[in-house]
Amino acid sequence: MKEISCKLLVIGAGPGGYVCAIRAGQLGIDTVVVEAGRLGGTCLNVGCIPSKAVIHAAEEFDKVVHMAGGESPLGISLAKPAIDLGKTVAWKDRIVGRLNNGVAGLFKKAGVKSIQGWAKFRDGKTVEVETETGTQLIHAETIVIATGSASVDLPPLPFGGNVITSTQALALDRVPEKLAVVGGGYIGLELGMAFARFGSAVTVVEALDRVLPLYDAELTRPVLKRLDALGVSVMTGAKAKGMSKKGDTLVVENGNGGEVRLPADKVLVTVGRKPLTEGWGIEELALDMDGRFIRIDETCRTSMRGIYAVGDVTGEPMLAHRAMAQGEMVAEIVAGHRRTWDKRCIPAICFTDPEVVSAGLSPEEARATGVEIKTGQFPFQANGRAMTMLGEDGFVRVVARADNHLVLGIQAVGQGVSELSAAFGLAIEMGARLEDIAGTIHAHPTQGEAFLEAAMKALGHALHI
Ligand code: FAD
Ligand code: NAD
Repeated sequence: MKEISCKLLVIGAGPGGYVCAIRAGQLGIDTVVVEAGRLGGTCLNVGCIPSKAVIHAAEEFDKVVHMAGGESPLGISLAKPAIDLGKTVAWKDRIVGRLNNGVAGLFKKAGVKSIQGWAKFRDGKTVEVETETGTQLIHAETIVIATGSASVDLPPLPFGGNVITSTQALALDRVPEKLAVVGGGYIGLELGMAFARFGSAVTVVEALDRVLPLYDAELTRPVLKRLDALGVSVMTGAKAKGMSKKGDTLVVENGNGGEVRLPADKVLVTVGRKPLTEGWGIEELALDMDGRFIRIDETCRTSMRGIYAVGDVTGEPMLAHRAMAQGEMVAEIVAGHRRTWDKRCIPAICFTDPEVVSAGLSPEEARATGVEIKTGQFPFQANGRAMTMLGEDGFVRVVARADNHLVLGIQAVGQGVSELSAAFGLAIEMGARLEDIAGTIHAHPTQGEAFLEAAMKALGHALHI
């Protein structure tokens, strides 16, 4: 058995683990990272990046379909478009491949050693890795657990056959004629809408009384409108009971206790993700848990000395940028820097059509803290740039304290608003007041001007409405 020792061992090379390893390498720490699958984890291989590639392809296809239908107000017309999903997926895979190689290159540049294989703890300082060439034993002073998460399955609807995960949905080579989506959260709506744009007849089955329950109802209204325009049926308060014997029909209990049968070529189950806490020897450790997640403190330390945890395995929100920020922080702590998790917000984006962004507190969440608030909302209908992009549906909303105008939250819904999230995050992180945003020149013509106007509106003097 081969044995090595290192200062820092990172288990899992997703956004949490690979960022931690790169930063540690940059800081001169002798770092080893173990990854069982491909570098980049869920996000890069089967999550954020491939889903956004497929969503972009669907958006482009939808545009030309409308042009071909003679519906383009831009005056563009063309012959009947077609989609070759196999080619789309091959393009998406090339992007993923480039990013995999990119992570490998960054490891090399930072002097990080990467080992392919499944890691299992023997004790708090020793990990065993099953590699292709045999077992490797690694002794480490400090270990970071970054094992991520996996799709949740529903007992009456186990994965297999026509019941698929998001990973399988992102690898389909044909557009399903009829697609049922169980779970109207992030993945269900992002991918459900993409397939609707590719031409699938989509039905979303959601257990709660509305889809995208994470965001407030006002923010998701333009998405509901678009779902309707795309012909997506949404069943709320509904539960999937199982598949028919032939495997071609999803049986659903609707909100009234009645049974509905939905013929479906594919059933995509997206009812959440669970932390990956099994199979790597957690039983050899004495880690305190926070429900299903590994408990961490404000420095990502677990209850065991010398063991840190980052990313999805540590809790909500299970987002790549949270994992990366934790990974970077832990590397600096291991290098002896004084760091602590003091972020004011973790922006969240849903890449639906239109996109939804939320940074900081919604009006309801802000009120629940007991402070009096002011809000300002500016519609894209009054934004010149949005008009030029046929993107008038949506708005930017700013939430601030009524007394000192400190910005507590910023939300937006609209075409392409994901790119505004950086400005929103920065404003909250820097402790901006409404006057700071209103006093910043926002270039014209941009959608960002709606942010400026929303702040002005909260101050009582929006200019363009
Ligand atoms: P992961 O990315 O899950 O990586 C963990 C890695 O650890 C995996 O590669 C796994 O193989 C490896 N591993 C686990 N156990 C072991 C072991 N014992 N030995 C060796 N290796 C091991 N988030 C966003 O912020 N934006 C998005 O747009 C977005 N879109 C998404 C779309 C989809 C379809 C999905 C499924 C997720 C999406 N997410 C998105 C969520 C995002 O992918 C995760 O939050 C992020 O990947 C978490 O990073 P992580 O490092 O904690 O774990
Ligand atoms: P989710 O938590 O976003 O949504 C799950 C949905 O399924 C919820 O609306 C829930 O009410 C519903 N549900 C639960 N059980 C159900 C049942 N039995 N029948 C019908 N509906 C049911 O989970 P997801 O969409 O699987 O995504 C997992 C995680 O991945 C997200 O929480 C997020 O952290 C991450 N993600 C992020 C992005 C992004 O940032 N753009 C995109 C995709 C995924």
